[in-house]
Amino acid sequence: DALIEGRCLSKQYTNDRGQKHVVCSNISVALRKREIVALLGHSGAGKSTLLRMLAGLITPTDGQVFTHGQPLTGPAPDAAMVFQSFALLPWLTVIDNVQIGLERANLTRSERKARAQSVIDAVGLHGCEQSFPKQLSGGMCQRVGLARALAVRPQALLMDEPFSALDVQTAQQLRTLVIELWQQQREGLSSVLIVTHNIEEAVQMADRILVLGSTPGRIVSEVAVHLLRTGA
Ligand code: ADP
Ligand code: ADP
Repeated sequence: DALIEGRCLSKQYTNDRGQKHVVCSNISVALRKREIVALLGHSGAGKSTLLRMLAGLITPTDGQVFTHGQPLTGPAPDAAMVFQSFALLPWLTVIDNVQIGLERANLTRSERKARAQSVIDAVGLHGCEQSFPKQLSGGMCQRVGLARALAVRPQALLMDEPFSALDVQTAQQLRTLVIELWQQQREGLSSVLIVTHNIEEAVQMADRILVLGSTPGRIVSEVAVHLLRTGA
């Protein structure tokens, strides 16, 4: 079974004037174990919407999301999200931001703290535990976002344009970090789904690229990346 699978997903939004707007139409995608998949498409193609449906954060108008073959109702338990704008809470320190997702976990305070420290070290933020987000660079903020996601030991990391707000060099450092965390299977990480409009990023990171077209919100093609990498 796939870690996360969307079958025939459609999403319609209704605007202020009551007009319906189809953003995703009959899309089927699967994230399998031990792969990195990129979801590529231009701005407005429906990538975020598809990712949020797969994460269980929004409900499809039609179709169904499955995890390990079971229908998903609510946020996907084995998945964690990383956002373009980091989505950190500015009034919390780094370590408290990282522990946010652990509040409902059945862990003691010291276990939560140890878990947070371990992922903070893994993303290269040792020494920044007591800093506040506004004291950090964008790249460091996204490291916090990654640590917060990893802290819940997700099998699937779902990333929405995670490096688009960063400069070229910082983005490259973070791509390398994510690949390393994935290779090391840190915190049990099995698979990564990354939404991007950057084709080089998709080619560098992914085993498969799904291209989301705009007419209206369909997967138009799937590319096996090893063919691109070897120049075939
Ligand atoms: P992408 O991630 O590819 O840029 P999105 O999924 O964010 O695409 O958005 C696709 C389209 O759906 C855009 O036109 C966007 O404005 C619209 N949209 C996204 N979320 C909502 C929402 N909650 N309500 C209404 N329209 C939305
Ligand atoms: P990010 O780039 O961090 O993914 P976005 O700017 O794409 O964030 O979207 C932020 C939020 O606004 C999302 O929850 C999305 O669903 C919502 N949104 C996007 N476009 C629209 C829209 N046209 N109408 C209403 N909500 C929207």
